[in-house]
Amino acid sequence: MSESKTISITNANTGINYVDEFDVVVCGYGGAGGCAALEAVRNGAKVLILERASDGGGSTALSSCEMYLGGSGGTSLQRACGFEDTTQNMINYIELAFEDKGDPEKIKFYTENAYQHFEWVKSLGVTYKEAAHLGRIVVPESNESLLYTGNERAYPFSDYSQPVPRGHVPSHEGDFGGKIFFDALKKEITLSQITVRCDSRVLGLVVDSNNLICGVSYKKDNCIQHVKVTKGVILTTGGFVMNDEMVSKYLPFQSDFAAPYGNPWDKGDGIQIGMLMNANVINMDEAFFGVYFYPPESLTYGIFLNSSGERFVNEDSYGARIGHFCAQQHQQKVYLLVQNEDFAPSIYMDKLPVLAVADTFEELEKEAGFEPNTLSSTAKKYNGYVKGGFDEAFKKDPQWLKEICNPPYALIDYSFDLQRSPMYSQKTGPLMFTLGGLETLKTGEVLDKNGAIIPKLFAAGRTTAGLPRTGKGYSSGMSVGDATFFGRMAGKSASKNKM
Ligand SMILES: Cc1cc2nc3c(=O)[nH]c(=O)nc-3n(C[C@H](O)[C@H](O)[C@H](O)COP(=O)(O)OP(=O)(O)OC[C@H]3O[C@@H](n4cnc5c(N)ncnc54)[C@H](O)[C@@H]3O)c2cc1C
Repeated sequence: MSESKTISITNANTGINYVDEFDVVVCGYGGAGGCAALEAVRNGAKVLILERASDGGGSTALSSCEMYLGGSGGTSLQRACGFEDTTQNMINYIELAFEDKGDPEKIKFYTENAYQHFEWVKSLGVTYKEAAHLGRIVVPESNESLLYTGNERAYPFSDYSQPVPRGHVPSHEGDFGGKIFFDALKKEITLSQITVRCDSRVLGLVVDSNNLICGVSYKKDNCIQHVKVTKGVILTTGGFVMNDEMVSKYLPFQSDFAAPYGNPWDKGDGIQIGMLMNANVINMDEAFFGVYFYPPESLTYGIFLNSSGERFVNEDSYGARIGHFCAQQHQQKVYLLVQNEDFAPSIYMDKLPVLAVADTFEELEKEAGFEPNTLSSTAKKYNGYVKGGFDEAFKKDPQWLKEICNPPYALIDYSFDLQRSPMYSQKTGPLMFTLGGLETLKTGEVLDKNGAIIPKLFAAGRTTAGLPRTGKGYSSGMSVGDATFFGRMAGKSASKNKM
């Protein structure tokens, strides 16, 4: 049976026996669910978490746990590292990032409260080192906690908002942020009165004759069980990148070449449950889609070319923006032209082949099978821009303008079709997680197709269309920041719900 068909709504009149009763039932124990549950119990609710896996964590525990935070003059970490960040500056950045797909209310609310959210995360016992890594990296291998995780220093963003680092990552050497964060969250949850049931897959909701939610159905020990709910159900089961049926339906273009990035239960269960309650789903065709061709940052001195030998992006952009523009190119054929002194294998995409090496642009062009005067003409034009100190084509920041004039030159093949070949590991593929889901208010309340609140239904994280709305404008930290912050808001709202 398909994953989606196992999700259903049960009528309470069909002789349901409830195993017990809770004020708030949280479905999915990842970042959003854990934070929702903690806020709900702290606001006096009797809370149950149901988790499909044998333990909590989800993608949040797998992640680097970079959170995108700032505003209010700067978080305590930003200030300690000497950075100021106004709320309006951060709003300007995020609004430009998501263009007309952004939700202005959520952006404003998140930004106004990001400072306080960071203090809340620290209060769990998560430690941050008051030091910044200002290089062009994705995750610090050293233990600094503040970094640039998006396009802040790149055009067009640098024209609209003052560049400030907003990536906040728990301090540790290596990539362990998600585990550090989740261990701290889990410790608080274990110490609280929250009941946690793992190996319990939520299958749907129980409704009364007026379609009002009164319970949750789940499968545990091979038995379907039901719990009664008085105040609210919070759907926090993550996104749908592991559900082939949903990916083919909503992201057919990316499904051809993207490598799913998430945990095995990113099956879209929460979204399916919401849809059966007539919830509105939005932004389903948007996904994070990362081409992390750096570090080393020296590769940024190179230029990306398509199969016509044309540039198509400022190469100092964040990996998700690079991924977006790579995907737009004909047959997703994309190459990085780099000179010898700037070449070193990319950390995340080290297995990609060098298509050609030559001492002149003309030879390189010929060897790689480009039409004459395509690649060579673009490279010479680019060198002209470098000499003039201004990238007239894509406004790459002058910091990354360096003449490509020391042969040999190499052309590295980043074309997406290569990543379907068995010679590449999944690690080298453009990574994807989904950014569409249930439409919610900033309170976590779920809206139906008419824009009305569905009583007693809440959601957060990748089950919803939250703060991050496009891969093109995504900055690392926006997903965990969004899931944990709006998870908390959903937990607060559900615990106070009187409907
Ligand atoms: C390796 C990696 C690194 C990343 N790094 C970052 C980063 O640094 N910063 C950032 O912002 N984003 C990052 N992301 C993305 C980010 O981790 C996720 O988008 C985010 O954590 C999702 O949070 P969530 O709470 O919505 O879902 P999750 O944390 O995935 O939690 C969902 C939970 O629901 C459970 N579940 C699913 N279905 C059911 C069901 N039917 N019943 C009961 N339980 C169910 C799952 O098992 C899971 O535990 C990264 C992702 C990956 C994979």
